[in-house]
Amino acid sequence: MAVTEDAAAIAGELAHLRRAIHAEPETGLDLPLTQEKILAALDGLPLEVTRGSALTSVTAVLRGDAGGGPAVLLRADMDALPVTERTGLDFASRIDGTMHACGHDLHSAMLVGAARLLSARQADLPGSVVFMFQPGEEGYGGAKFMIEEGVLDAAGERAAAAYALHVASAELSAGVFSTREGPMMAAADALNIAVHGRGGHGSQPHHAADPIPVACEIVTALQVLVTRAFDIFDPVVITVGSFHAGTTNNVIPDEARLQVTIRSFSAPARTLVREAAVRLVHDTASAHGLTATAEFENSYPVTVNDQREARFATEVVADLLGEDRFLPQANPMAGAEDFSFVLDQVPGAFVMLGACPPPVDPATAPFNHSAFAVFDDTVLADGAALFTELAVRRLNR
Ligand SMILES: [Zn+2]
Ligand SMILES: [Zn+2]
Repeated sequence: MAVTEDAAAIAGELAHLRRAIHAEPETGLDLPLTQEKILAALDGLPLEVTRGSALTSVTAVLRGDAGGGPAVLLRADMDALPVTERTGLDFASRIDGTMHACGHDLHSAMLVGAARLLSARQADLPGSVVFMFQPGEEGYGGAKFMIEEGVLDAAGERAAAAYALHVASAELSAGVFSTREGPMMAAADALNIAVHGRGGHGSQPHHAADPIPVACEIVTALQVLVTRAFDIFDPVVITVGSFHAGTTNNVIPDEARLQVTIRSFSAPARTLVREAAVRLVHDTASAHGLTATAEFENSYPVTVNDQREARFATEVVADLLGEDRFLPQANPMAGAEDFSFVLDQVPGAFVMLGACPPPVDPATAPFNHSAFAVFDDTVLADGAALFTELAVRRLNR
């Protein structure tokens, strides 16, 4: 039977699994309940299953019987967000303050579906498939931990290609896939700045070293940096999202603290902005006789789709589901993804899948990370079918 028909036949079970994961969301690297559900759903399949040590990941390897071809990696992230769900769905989160607002519950269910569909095709597969179920995408760099624990070589050889799907609750209609060649998602660098001054009486600033005006200069200088040092066709975004200093009106504080996010879309621009921002912070502080520290944390590189693999994914969508189910993505998205760590080492493609429930208008629907974001179950079968077809065709290429 065709992959799409096989996928449609298990759509109900995938929706059931997705809703169970949705109702019990977990955040970060430790997702024991989610891991348990995935292990139970994979039980009985002809897979070599291992669990992570540093995180509650699941790696499953399917070895095809039709020869020792390459290995292909398929990835789903599993974690939720610290958001209080307000969708009113009957399977809404039962855990206060935690919600699958980015649709990773759907990713997990789709990858389980692909594991089932590919297991049924084991006899004809000329290679291996690695199923990567990953915690901690939302800022915890879970992919990096799984790479350190060997997921890219789980089949006994380095994966030759890697694919990931990501659902969107808005912007794309349900069932429409989208991707692009080259940069797909931004690099995100979190920069923590502390300007160190010397506190004193608000009436006598000459006896103190006031960090507040210096920190203000840093904020505006960072914006000037964006407009003067970067090619407008290889842009960067710098946003100071947090600025804290002082306690009251007549006391000069010792310190000002800034939290900054920096987005870039190419490796050269990322290197340049990281160096330039740190230099600017130090030199601005020093110009006023103060010192400053600037430290990066939780950084994700640019998610870059391999040209050939992105084209391949586009063709597979059109062949499998029809050309009207694919929309080319004009520009990279300014969000970031830790699948970037995988694509840094293995050529592959990150593909978006619209999951806005009709008749809601994708142009105005609440987007991923909103407490109101709703993802339609009906896309699960096609997501599982696409994962399956990508693996089958890539192994046979
Ligand atoms: Zn997200
Ligand atoms: Zn996500």
